[in-house]
Amino acid sequence: MAPSIPQTMKAIQLTGYKKPLELNEVPLPKVGENDLLIKIGAAGWCHTDYQVWEGVYKSETPIIQSHEPVGTIVAMGPKAEKAGKWKIGQRVGYLLFRHQCHTCAACKNYDEIRFCQKADHAGLDADGGMGEYSIGDADNAVLLPDEVPFEQAAPLMCAGATTWGGLERLELPPESYVGIVGIGGLGG
Ligand SMILES: [Zn+2]
Ligand SMILES: [Zn+2]
Repeated sequence: MAPSIPQTMKAIQLTGYKKPLELNEVPLPKVGENDLLIKIGAAGWCHTDYQVWEGVYKSETPIIQSHEPVGTIVAMGPKAEKAGKWKIGQRVGYLLFRHQCHTCAACKNYDEIRFCQKADHAGLDADGGMGEYSIGDADNAVLLPDEVPFEQAAPLMCAGATTWGGLERLELPPESYVGIVGIGGLGG
């Protein structure tokens, strides 16, 4: 049976730069055709979120912060459902970038969501994961292993992914020693 989904939810919003964050009752996010609706298990607050709080990116407020959310899929849009990659009840996380357009000049040249001119960015120019529910992009979500608890998985969605990206490019053989500068920050 599909889980019952409320009309509103509690979310932590930034309502003005450098102001205390507020816990507010807000409408549930709209589920787009390729979106996953995720019941949030945990959401990290990255240094970029701190900069959003400071007003560095001139984000429109109110905004729900966090681009490091993880949780459980409770619903999905028709395109995501048809693609068959995701199922209700799966534990997932999503990364900062969502909704690649596949048609802008950058997409045509690189077909890479990070360069898309029309993608949105959770917690920067669109609501992020610090609510009871959040929208993940079916094309940019990751499946979580059952043994990784939500609170450990959340910071992997940005800080951990960034550090892992560097390690992957090194193509190190197994059991190599590496030093990571910034453990506790980008070290995850
Ligand atoms: Zn981040
Ligand atoms: Zn694009």
